[in-house]
Amino acid sequence: MNEGPLPPGLYVVATPIGNLGDITVRALDVLKRVDRVAAEDTRVSGQLLSMLGISKPLLSVRAHNEQQGAEKLIEIIRNGESVAYVTDAGTPAISDPGSRLVEAVRGAGFLVIPLPGASAAVTALSVSGLSGGPWLFAGFLPPKAKARQEALASLKPLPCSLVFYEAPHRVRETLADMARVLGRNRRIFIARELTKQFEELAVMKLAETAVWLDASDFHEKGEFVLVVEGEENETPVMAEAGRIARLLAEELPASQAAKLAAKITGLRKSELYALLMQEHE
Ligand code: SAM
Repeated sequence: MNEGPLPPGLYVVATPIGNLGDITVRALDVLKRVDRVAAEDTRVSGQLLSMLGISKPLLSVRAHNEQQGAEKLIEIIRNGESVAYVTDAGTPAISDPGSRLVEAVRGAGFLVIPLPGASAAVTALSVSGLSGGPWLFAGFLPPKAKARQEALASLKPLPCSLVFYEAPHRVRETLADMARVLGRNRRIFIARELTKQFEELAVMKLAETAVWLDASDFHEKGEFVLVVEGEENETPVMAEAGRIARLLAEELPASQAAKLAAKITGLRKSELYALLMQEHE
């Protein structure tokens, strides 16, 4: 590692997602050498720094003050200082504040330096067995049921693995909606409490998630990454037909919706009916 002060700029530093041992050697070095640390939550990051034996002036840059925070940081960097940005856990700007800050600092003409490290999404993917091809990071689904189901319907035809974050109090309803909208036969990889003492990794079909949740009181506690396998065989025509059938089924009985959708798209009524039925099982 180098010694001495760092060039002025913004150092975007990933921190552990549960296991302190996952801090990188380079993150430690940079956190020791920067002039200040900007943090999503100064209490959380203050504790992390103290566990690492580091004491630095802290300032808060969270989602609701990211723009003003960015302006303040730009002034600090203009004065020749180096500033690290950390969020509560994992990689900043990944379902976390940081993106606007990065854009503003770079836009003002200053250095932005990434320090890679833990991120729950990539950690889960690495042991999911579903990461061989392309994947899409969908982050948190909307909390309200209708918006969540619509978001899932728009992701349904994509031929790539889908990666979600979810909070424990919503995991049951989200898993139920995934089975309903994405189809009960798709595989899901559930990563709970990654890198922590009670880490749990489980793979199953979406149809089986309710049984898994019921199997232990702990299964609805902690932090979750959900990786769902992508749609393998759906063609764009089938995806569009499914969309039309679903829209029609909002107003009509499923058999009529399937019949009309089949007329519009030229696909078989039975196929579209089966699709609608599968989603309402
Ligand atoms: N920026 C972070 C990252 O790089 O992973 C994510 C921040 S986001 C606000 C927090 C969410 O990430 C949690 O609700 C959970 O879905 C997921 N997460 C974070 N740590 C996790 C862990 N140890 N195990 C499983 N999921 C985790």
